[in-house]
Amino acid sequence: MNVVLFGPPGAGKGTQAKELSKHYDIPHISTGDILRANVAEGTDLGKKAAEYMNKGELVPDEVLIGIIKNRIAEPDCKSGYLLDGYPRTVPQADALSDILKDINMPLEVVLNIAVPDEELVIRLAGRYSCKCGESYHIKFNPPKEAGICDVCGKELYQRDDDKEEVIRQRLVSYKRNTQPLIDYYEKAGLLVNIEGAGEIDEVFGQIINVLDQYK
Ligand code: ADP
Ligand code: AMP
Repeated sequence: MNVVLFGPPGAGKGTQAKELSKHYDIPHISTGDILRANVAEGTDLGKKAAEYMNKGELVPDEVLIGIIKNRIAEPDCKSGYLLDGYPRTVPQADALSDILKDINMPLEVVLNIAVPDEELVIRLAGRYSCKCGESYHIKFNPPKEAGICDVCGKELYQRDDDKEEVIRQRLVSYKRNTQPLIDYYEKAGLLVNIEGAGEIDEVFGQIINVLDQYK
């Protein structure tokens, strides 16, 4: 199953991808998680990426294309992949299509998770993340023990880019650079719209109704 989870920041891509990855036993590839791991390790890539991420801007395409090319070539992707946060620009989408053609694993479906802007701001401002990749919401999806990850027991933190002014900039960047991909994938006949404003379980139900067709 070869899937892109698409949508604005805060739409619930990571939350759904975690569950879908377990449900279908395919890897969840989040470019945001890969970049944050590089930032935490202080790699050259991480140092360069942090300059953009902290301002709510996109990291340059050539960096992201390199990351995704290497990740998709790893053996665990032989059974499929769930991309989260990539592609975010038309050049990234074009590059993805070339990469996937070379390995003969074309995209099957792009799930466009739609959520109104004001709801996105509330979700992102209340998000608590874990280094293991889990994310929680202080109100909508709290951990069992305040401030502690249910899965790995580590302390939760608020992302630097989940501050209101950076959130607004990320939404501007989404509209300018990323939203045009809705049309791009619609024309390619790959787009399926998901109503993302419901409860986490309801959204999951809608998604598996679609993805079960690709098992
Ligand atoms: P994305 O990966 O698309 O940026 P996340 O999955 O990290 O978004 O979700 C953003 C925030 O919204 C998190 O705090 C998450 O717990 C919360 N969230 C995700 N889905 C829902 C939902 N359906 N309803 C309410 N809150 C949600
Ligand atoms: P995310 O975790 O998906 O919200 O991404 C966090 C930040 O990482 C974004 O605001 C960008 O700065 C950067 N980023 C993640 N994925 C990409 C991408 N595909 N293209 C450019 N920048 C990205």
